[in-house]
Amino acid sequence: MPDSQTILAALKCIVPHMAEVHPWFMPLMAVVVGAVFGSYLTCALYRVPRGLSLWHPPSYCPSCKNTLKIPDLVPVLSWLFFRGKCRQCGVKIPFKYLSIELLSIGAALFSLAVSHGGGSFVFAYGAMVSFGAVVFLLAVHHQYAPKSVAFGLLCLGLYVAFQQPLFACSAGFY
Ligand SMILES: [Zn+2]
Repeated sequence: MPDSQTILAALKCIVPHMAEVHPWFMPLMAVVVGAVFGSYLTCALYRVPRGLSLWHPPSYCPSCKNTLKIPDLVPVLSWLFFRGKCRQCGVKIPFKYLSIELLSIGAALFSLAVSHGGGSFVFAYGAMVSFGAVVFLLAVHHQYAPKSVAFGLLCLGLYVAFQQPLFACSAGFY
């Protein structure tokens, strides 16, 4: 069994190579990162306001309390495949959970486009998802978005505009 250092070193060699060979590799990675993080975000948005642990217990259905299995945990696809219902008790899973996963994937692809796959990808993606989640929670639960969040989004918009003026100007055409 290779140790984590060996795996990391191998990934460092493979990822740039894959990115050169396959033009879709980085967009695909962005979709995977966005989907996985979006899925974790839905879990956090449920647990944090209720004072529950983020790590324990594993994901479960709030209605029947059954632990979710691998087929239930595939971001986006599980929701679509099981038509937005718990596989075990049939309770409806709110559409907002699917929309958060889709928004997270959109944020990852947007960040990749803005950063051209560079080092600022993680920064741009993290910032967009954090602010997006806060705005989403406040809008859904309190019909309110504070000035500090609006200011944060403005700063992020300016950062994007300075980083990639053409992209910011033409974002409406994508
Ligand atoms: Zn259930």
